[in-house]
Amino acid sequence: MKPLSPLATAWTRSKPPLLRFLDNCLSEFSAETSGHVADYIPELGKADPAYFGISLATLDGHVYEVGDSRVPFTIQSMSKPFVFALALDLLGAGKVEGAIGVEPSGDPFNSIRLNSENHPFNPMVNAGAIACTGLIYDSKGAEAFEQIRLALSRFAGRDLSVDDAVYSSESQTGDRNRAIGYLLKTNAVISDNVVGVLDVYFRQCAVLVTARDIAVMAATLANRGINPVTGEQVLSAYAISRTLSVMTSSGMYDYAGEWIYRIGIPAKSGVGGGILAALPARLGLGSYSPKLDKHGNSVRGIKVCEALSSHYDLHMLNRSDDARNAVIADYDIGKSPSRRVRRPQEREILAAHEQEVRIIELVGTLSLSAVDYVSRRLAGRPRPQFVIFDLHRVTSTTRAGARLVAEAFEELAALNVTVVLSGVRRASKEWNTLREWTAELKNVRDFYLLDTAIEWAEDQIVYRYGGSIDFHETTELAEQPLLTGLSEEELTDLASLCTIRTYQSGAKILTAGDPADALYFLRSGAVHVTLPDGVRLATLTAGMAFGEMALLEQTRSADVFADMAATACEVPLKDFERFRKRHPRASECIMRNLAQLLADRLIVANAKVDILTST
Ligand code: GLN
Repeated sequence: MKPLSPLATAWTRSKPPLLRFLDNCLSEFSAETSGHVADYIPELGKADPAYFGISLATLDGHVYEVGDSRVPFTIQSMSKPFVFALALDLLGAGKVEGAIGVEPSGDPFNSIRLNSENHPFNPMVNAGAIACTGLIYDSKGAEAFEQIRLALSRFAGRDLSVDDAVYSSESQTGDRNRAIGYLLKTNAVISDNVVGVLDVYFRQCAVLVTARDIAVMAATLANRGINPVTGEQVLSAYAISRTLSVMTSSGMYDYAGEWIYRIGIPAKSGVGGGILAALPARLGLGSYSPKLDKHGNSVRGIKVCEALSSHYDLHMLNRSDDARNAVIADYDIGKSPSRRVRRPQEREILAAHEQEVRIIELVGTLSLSAVDYVSRRLAGRPRPQFVIFDLHRVTSTTRAGARLVAEAFEELAALNVTVVLSGVRRASKEWNTLREWTAELKNVRDFYLLDTAIEWAEDQIVYRYGGSIDFHETTELAEQPLLTGLSEEELTDLASLCTIRTYQSGAKILTAGDPADALYFLRSGAVHVTLPDGVRLATLTAGMAFGEMALLEQTRSADVFADMAATACEVPLKDFERFRKRHPRASECIMRNLAQLLADRLIVANAKVDILTST
């Protein structure tokens, strides 16, 4: 391998800004030594208070790590949101929601108080968490713990194990939690086996994680339940959104109101020193530092979250979105036709009806506001017969967006407007949702390439206004725009140099890189010109020339394929040169025509660039 230049090495060693930010947090907040390591579980008291690790996972699956991000510690209460989500999916929302409330308690995590119905206030305090575990235990028995461990592992993207010392330490001293268990039993929230339930609960709290694991687990919550590193949908989007709701209102115990007011990121802490913060649609954060404040939240962890939220202005309720950004281009075929080279009669028809094919190129997420904006934009102008929505740059559709799209398509169908989609990736989720919701509609067509979609709509306009396209009809040299202005005698002389070639549909006629040694005049059928990387440059029908660039360049720069059975007059370049010498006037005519054709193409190409930069 070639050694990297000094500049390149400096670049590869440079840090992304978010990593630098985490580094700065680490060095700045290491100086913070207040708080106390939890020691009501004796084994936790042994933690080294100096440990400090931070990790941040993005929703594209990148994980940033600084400090002791790989040091294992027990998950403790950070298990609660995941076990709640698991219970929702495993037992059904009705059952879980019927047993455990969702109101903040304003109490510390280990409060023994229940609500007025004698149910736990919410699943984020011990009473609610023990109830969740109890419900899973009631249904899964001896399997319960393994189910929980596996779920936590799927959130983390790796197999998690238990710290036996912490488990037995809590098991020996956890009478307060046992008291909560019996209270839940007398109130029929859990059924008989309190000892068994508590055993699972203590084990679940003693699962070992690292700051990195917590970041990935949080990112999975922020990503509607899809682990961004493994790609696995761990639990349902319903369970995840409801879990984030209770984290928002109760995740930080009696500090929850203050937390969501100031920091504005759903979070959960654990007495082991971990803090998990999940900012929906953005990121997951995990931090580890064992010293806790009076609420039982890690002192340094809180500082990291505060800094992240304020430095990047991440408060979840401090957002706005401009739906207008979803449209990057909006034009008709007058401004940018397909790459199909049309005959004069077709061109006339299209020019007279250019407003009837409208193209709207979209980008990003099709949200409720984006689709609403597009539908109002459509309504504001003369109604086209065809609307092409190009979705190549659309990355996702929200359910609300897809619902509104389906409703808009129905409306267009009622008005006899044909909807043409381009750029929908076949297997994508968006495609499936849209297909499902528009299955009944007959006015929706789709083509992968935008150019093909435009060409198809143009053809429909040509047919509708009487310009039938007969691909099998044979054209004469005199109809060739490249030969406009040649006399009959000149044309006859040129015809005598021609060999008629016949191509099967799909045949490769010219190959990029080959010597350019002949010109072709298409007599019947259609061909297309593509760059070797598959970009379609033009579609030509009978009456058009191809390979004419041989007049200007020595090697072919594009491939030419027959779209259907086709015939062409081939004129070898060396014969054509002799013809030009014999007929200097005709030669000048041809070169002028060629210049005109190239200028036309340039106008179209410029318009296409312009459209994207000026909408
Ligand atoms: N296992 C701990 C307990 O129940 C968890 C508490 C916490 O992390 N806040 O006491």
